[in-house]
Amino acid sequence: MEIFKGQNLLEFAECFKTDEDCKKYLSDLKWKEGFLCRKCGHTASQIRKDFSRTCNICSHTESSSANTLFHKCKFGLRKAFFICFEMATTTKSLSALQMSVRYGVQENTARLFMHKVREAMKSSENHPMDGIVHVDEFVVGGYEETKQGRSYDSKKKKAVCALELTDDGKVKRFYILKIKDFSSKSLRQIFDKHIEKEARITTDKWKGYAPISEEYNITQILSKNGSNFKALHTMIHQVKTWIRTTHSWVSDGNIQRYFNEFCYRINRSQNKESIFHNLIDKMVKTDKINQKELVCS
Ligand SMILES: [Zn+2]
Repeated sequence: MEIFKGQNLLEFAECFKTDEDCKKYLSDLKWKEGFLCRKCGHTASQIRKDFSRTCNICSHTESSSANTLFHKCKFGLRKAFFICFEMATTTKSLSALQMSVRYGVQENTARLFMHKVREAMKSSENHPMDGIVHVDEFVVGGYEETKQGRSYDSKKKKAVCALELTDDGKVKRFYILKIKDFSSKSLRQIFDKHIEKEARITTDKWKGYAPISEEYNITQILSKNGSNFKALHTMIHQVKTWIRTTHSWVSDGNIQRYFNEFCYRINRSQNKESIFHNLIDKMVKTDKINQKELVCS
């Protein structure tokens, strides 16, 4: 199949003029390795006009969007593709409200679909960071933006993040995890999910990191108000600003999804050519999610 490359909106609009164009794209992607009937396991099929496939043995028909994250997409695939394109290729994406105005869909419908896209943006956790890694924790929300540190204020959402740097101090990869407190046990999650034991890790002097250093190669240094963690603190500042300005408020149950979206774009900023295709590929490979599973308070 010919994959869509680049970030040009006019070329994108030209490539995906109708829902049918999108169905074909999904169909090519979904059955790239061939068809497999979900009902009887047979592999021979007829391709129908709408790019769905019908099994030659049991006549079961499957559409190109069925069982993917585009499953039963209410507002048509073309709009869904455009929303994916915005979320993948722009720097900050849009709020659900802005997206709803731009594409003429209900705000809540846009919000739910965007959460599905964020599910596809989740890290596979297959490529842990193994170089220079800085780790720190932060809080989001509440009104005391200037009050830094490990406030146990329950209204604030807590997170731990890890940034991999190149040898010359540039951002390589970034991950954020929502955690319930700043205990060693909670902080440890980001190490186990995203960091190799061999990585050269630096944290500040918070005592929560000490027990983790028994298994990981951690050096603890003074933060000096963040001046020893400049790149990491810039990223933390960016994610907090992004949540506050683009989305204004994010619920506790959803915040990890926003973190996933933010990190997805950062981690693929070197692969912008293929970022849209990569996202659609993940949308197709991720099993459908129904609305009930998406709604968080
Ligand atoms: Zn069949």
